Amino acid sequence: MNLNKPYLLVGQGLAGTVLAHHFLQANIPFQIWDSPQHFNSSYAAGGVFNPVTGRKLEKTWLADELFDYLFPFYQQVEKTLGIPFFYPMPLFRPFANDEMKHWLLERKDQIQHAFLDWTEAGVWVKQAGWVDVASLLRHSKSYFERLGIYSERTFKAKDGHDFEAIIYCEGFHAAQNPLWEKLPFLPAKGELMRFQSSEPSREFILNKNGFILPLPDGAFKVGATYRWDEFTQLPTDSSREELKTKLASMGVAHYALLDTFVGVRPATQDRRPFIGMLSNQLGIFNGFGSKGVSLSPYFAHAFIQELNGIKELDFEVSIHRYSHLFSV
Ligand SMILES: Cc1cc2nc3c(=O)[nH]c(=O)nc-3n(C[C@H](O)[C@H](O)[C@H](O)COP(=O)(O)OP(=O)(O)OC[C@H]3O[C@@H](n4cnc5c(N)ncnc54)[C@H](O)[C@@H]3O)c2cc1C
Repeated sequence: MNLNKPYLLVGQGLAGTVLAHHFLQANIPFQIWDSPQHFNSSYAAGGVFNPVTGRKLEKTWLADELFDYLFPFYQQVEKTLGIPFFYPMPLFRPFANDEMKHWLLERKDQIQHAFLDWTEAGVWVKQAGWVDVASLLRHSKSYFERLGIYSERTFKAKDGHDFEAIIYCEGFHAAQNPLWEKLPFLPAKGELMRFQSSEPSREFILNKNGFILPLPDGAFKVGATYRWDEFTQLPTDSSREELKTKLASMGVAHYALLDTFVGVRPATQDRRPFIGMLSNQLGIFNGFGSKGVSLSPYFAHAFIQELNGIKELDFEVSIHRYSHLFSV
């Protein structure tokens, strides 16, 4: 790629960070800016990656491709940054009740796939785990600073002239950006709590209408809530009660609450990300909803392949499926 000027990545949340590591690996010159004024959702994320979804234990969309890609990617970044943040860990999904257990066991042969191990009490999910997203972001920021490619700065349209192209990784803030506000975002606010308890297992992630995640410092996280009616940075009493109900339903009765985390997931109405260059100067890497950890590595790679003229992005995730909304 012959460039006169560097690219600019706007936003150092999970999406911008993962894309930045791919730009570095591909030797594409860039700068990355992150705003001190916008609130960042990635710091609230549980970071769980789980290839199985829904009551019928189906594989998530593109599970084979996404999960084959994400393991070596995060392990490589751990080496680059020199810190651990990637924690593969078994995930256990107990059967919701006897009725559901019988229903699933009767269909076991049709449902069965490589990510599942069945037991009397539920299923173990393989290739699951979690990423300490806050640690990945903090250490990546220091690394980018050392390379001289990071600025704590809010991007405004007038700043664009010094760059080959601008790639917006603004998370749910894009829904307020006049450039992108026409895109069908469906932001979903979420809350998660950190707590101390001796009751849950430290050996696996428990997943039953929510999750309990054991942390290296001895505490746990329980998550997560979803709401679509307000998008402030503030925790709410109703979400707190919902998280306490989740804890009770996962068998945790005695605990001390430590912190609450709040974020807004950049989800989209068609449940697919928004990726690619809308014009030569204008690109986007966004819309990863509640699955940024598993989706963003694979699609950052796909985006680089398109930028390098190797392979076009699938129309299903490409921003071009919405080009009729823009007049650029
Ligand atoms: C409670 C909760 C739990 C979650 N749990 C999980 C989970 O277990 N697993 C999972 O995969 N996902 C989870 N998610 C979803 C995950 O957080 C998102 O998919 C992901 O973090 C989105 O990252 P992002 O970079 O697109 O957005 P953000 O993290 O919001 O980052 C956007 C960044 O852009 C910056 N920015 C915006 N505008 C500008 C500007 N003009 N100039 C400069 N900078 C700008 C902001 O400052 C911000 O840092 C969870 C989310 C929540 C809220």
